[in-house]
Amino acid sequence: MKSLVRLLALLLVTCSLSHSQKIVIKAGRFLDPKSGNILQNQIILIEDGRISSVGSGTTIPPDAFVIDLPEKTVLPGLIDCHTHMLLQPEDGRGFPPVVSKSQAFRTIQGVAGAKKDFEAGFTTIRDLDSEGAGFADVALRDAINKGIVPGPRMFVSTFALTITAGHMNLAGINPDVQLPDPASITDSRDAMITEIRRQIKYGADWIKLYATGTLRHVDPVTLEPVHQVSLEDVQAVVNEAKRWRKDVAAHAYGGLGAKNSVLGGVRSIEHGMFLDDEILKLMVERGTFWCPTIGTYIPDADEEMTDFRKRIIARHKETFQKAMKMGVKIAFGTDVGAYEHGTSVREFMKMVEYGMKPIDAIRSATTRAAELLRMEKDLGTIETGKFADIIAVDGNPLENIGALKNVVFVMKEGRVYMDAR
Ligand SMILES: [Zn+2]
Repeated sequence: MKSLVRLLALLLVTCSLSHSQKIVIKAGRFLDPKSGNILQNQIILIEDGRISSVGSGTTIPPDAFVIDLPEKTVLPGLIDCHTHMLLQPEDGRGFPPVVSKSQAFRTIQGVAGAKKDFEAGFTTIRDLDSEGAGFADVALRDAINKGIVPGPRMFVSTFALTITAGHMNLAGINPDVQLPDPASITDSRDAMITEIRRQIKYGADWIKLYATGTLRHVDPVTLEPVHQVSLEDVQAVVNEAKRWRKDVAAHAYGGLGAKNSVLGGVRSIEHGMFLDDEILKLMVERGTFWCPTIGTYIPDADEEMTDFRKRIIARHKETFQKAMKMGVKIAFGTDVGAYEHGTSVREFMKMVEYGMKPIDAIRSATTRAAELLRMEKDLGTIETGKFADIIAVDGNPLENIGALKNVVFVMKEGRVYMDAR
């Protein structure tokens, strides 16, 4: 009965509030990522999807719809800078999804996955490669923007650029059989430039470049990853992206591929578990962001925890701790899709376990992530003028980061999508 009342109340809130309706959130605890403080009893006034004032002395307009959250911690909507909405955990096992699933089916799965991540508190995501689902990420982004399906605000990269025999070029395949690849094969600079133009034409917001291979390309003795691009390649990709006012994210575990990416001007390095002191220093100097995606390399199944894997996890931890100390800009990224949608909070737990303060872990997914996306004027904090992307959780995440598991309220641009109080 109680859940029915909640459902009716939610329907009432979501259906009755027009975009222009004034809404007030009364926040019992208000977590401000900028100052790192929790303020008591703040009043947030929302008009036309944006925050029009916030503070303890804000007057509540008589015609405003009031949402009272006296026992909750209210914070800005979270941002995940490395997701795969079109990917599901089972896609990493058995036949690759380009072989076993239609794009239509993958898109439907993507709709369901996006809803789960959204209800876990992520109101914005950067989706880095549809991994063979074509431009379905563009379709999903647009459907969410049009209000056809619920989900986070998406920045998408469509296909990614790779090379023959590299990452996302299917291995172990009969050479006589033609199969679609999960990424675009671009073996020359000209091919890279042409492919970037095609991706932009069909809706890419970001360009994703595979600058090193994947785990099968890592030398089991030295842990050196295969580099897939030269400095000149990266410069060509970054320059072409710049023409269209887009940024580049580079999948790079470390070594020459990572160094070329940083020197070539990419905006973020993805994964980067083998980044050495020289590269980390270059990243600090150049302001390159890092999305560590720690959790995705920690297998769920015990049998996958090989010695090789253990060494990778240990290096990842070491690099993370060094990067924190050196002042690398760490932005929250999970690789969700490689594991269950809606469970990305595990990345926060790992970051804190590895020594990051809870407030800095939260900053990585709010203020820092907004900066990476060049959206700091609109996202990342609950301040006047920004989008009303607001979530609430049970408990205090500064005392226990696990409280971020307990998301009970999700608002995006002033619209309530979940209210499970
Ligand atoms: Zn990824």
